[in-house]
Amino acid sequence: MDLTFSTSELAFRDEFRAWLEANPAGQSPEGEDAAYAFRTQWQRRLYEGGWAAVHWPRQFGGRDATLVEAAIFYEELARVRAPIPANVLGILLGGPTLMLWGTEEQKDRYLIPILSAEEIWCQGFSEPDAGSDLAALKTKAVKDGDDWIVTGQKVWTSGAQYSKWCMLVARTDQDAAKHKGLTYFLLDMEQEEVQVRPLRQITGESEFNELFIEGARIPDENVIGGVGNGWKVALTTLMNERAGLAFGLQVALKIGLDKLTEQASARGLMDDPAVADKLGELHLKCEILRLTAYRGLSTTMKYGQPGPEGSLTKWMWSETNQQLAQAAVDILGPEALLSDSPWAYGLLRSRGNTIEGGTTEVLKNIVAERVLGLPRMR
Ligand SMILES: Cc1cc2nc3c(=O)[nH]c(=O)nc-3n(C[C@H](O)[C@H](O)[C@H](O)COP(=O)(O)OP(=O)(O)OC[C@H]3O[C@@H](n4cnc5c(N)ncnc54)[C@H](O)[C@@H]3O)c2cc1C
Repeated sequence: MDLTFSTSELAFRDEFRAWLEANPAGQSPEGEDAAYAFRTQWQRRLYEGGWAAVHWPRQFGGRDATLVEAAIFYEELARVRAPIPANVLGILLGGPTLMLWGTEEQKDRYLIPILSAEEIWCQGFSEPDAGSDLAALKTKAVKDGDDWIVTGQKVWTSGAQYSKWCMLVARTDQDAAKHKGLTYFLLDMEQEEVQVRPLRQITGESEFNELFIEGARIPDENVIGGVGNGWKVALTTLMNERAGLAFGLQVALKIGLDKLTEQASARGLMDDPAVADKLGELHLKCEILRLTAYRGLSTTMKYGQPGPEGSLTKWMWSETNQQLAQAAVDILGPEALLSDSPWAYGLLRSRGNTIEGGTTEVLKNIVAERVLGLPRMR
C-alpha cells in the first residue's frame, strides 16, 4: 500500500492534533477506581468533541473516517500518551460486532451509549475450561418464554466490575456440534443473578474478574446475530480485538523504546555494543510491526472486516513489548524494578500480553493455517 498520507489525511491529522493540544488528557490519579473514572471522563471529552471512535458512522457518534484516518487517529492518541478510553472493549469489539450482526433497533439502542461511556461493555467469553478452545464453553442458556435463563461461570472478564453489558457467548443447543450450538447475547450485568468477583493480578491490580451466573435473564431481543450463530459472531469480536489495537499499541511501544534509549544515553551506555545492539534490534522490530499493521489495514479495506492478519500484529506486539520491559531492566538495573518505576509495572503487566486476546501459540497456528495456508495441525 501507499504509505504517504494524502492532503485530506494530513488535514485530518492536523485537526486532531489541534484538538488534542487544546484538550490535554492530564495525569491519571492513583488508585484503580480513580484511574478508571479518569479514563471515563477522558472518553466523554473525546465523545463530546466527536473523537471517540472516528471510523464509526456519524449517526452513531463517529466521523465516517476512512481506515487510514482511523490509523492516524490511534497513532496521534498514543503519541500524546493519552489514556485508553474506559469503554475500550465496547468501542473496539462490541460496536463493530453490533454494526455487522445487530438489528437496526440494537444499533439505535446500544451504539451511542458505548461511545459516550454511559454504558461500559465487557467480554464474557473465557471460562475455567474454555479459553483458547472457546467452543468448549459450558455456560448454558435455556429458553423460557421470551427470555433466556443463563447459568455458568466466566473468568478473566476485564472491567466487569464497571460494566453494564457483557458480550456473552453461551450454549443454547446441547446436542448440536460444538461450534454450532452457541449463541451470542448481551447480558445485563445489573441483576442479582450475576456475581462479579475480582481476581488480583501480578501487578496488584484487579483488572479482571470471575463471573458467577446463576439463572440470570436475557430477553430474546438481546440475542445478537441469531440463535445458533454465536461462533461466527464471536469470531467478528475476536478479529476486531486482535487487529483493533495494532496502531495505538505500536506507537506506544515506540514511545517506550525512545524513552529507554534516552535513559541509556543519559547514563553513557550507548557505547556498550550489547546495549546498542539490543536497542537497535528493538527499533527494527517496532518498524516491522508498524509496517505490518499498515499491511493489515489494506486487507481490512479490501474485505470490509479485519482478517486473520491481525493475529500476526498481536503476536509481534506482545513479544516485543515483553522484550522492551526486560531490556529496560537489563540496561537500567535494579532502579527499573523500584515500585514507582513505570518499567517495573510494565515488566509485570506485559506477562499477560502473550495470553490476553489469544495466546501466542494459538495466534501462530492461525497465522500458519489461515495466512500462510500451511496444513492444519489436526
Ligand atoms: C490480562 C488478561 C485479560 C483478559 N481479559 C479477558 C476478557 O475480558 N474476557 C475474556 O473472555 N477473556 C479474557 N482473558 C482470557 C484470555 O482470552 C485467555 O486467557 C486466553 O484465551 C487463553 O485461555 P486459557 O487461559 O484458558 O489458557 P488455555 O487455553 O488453557 O491455554 C494454556 C496453554 O496451552 C496453550 N494452547 C492451548 N491450545 C493450544 C493449541 N491448540 N495449540 C498450541 N498451544 C495451545 C496455550 O497457548 C497456553 O500456553 C484475559 C486474559 C488476560 C491475561
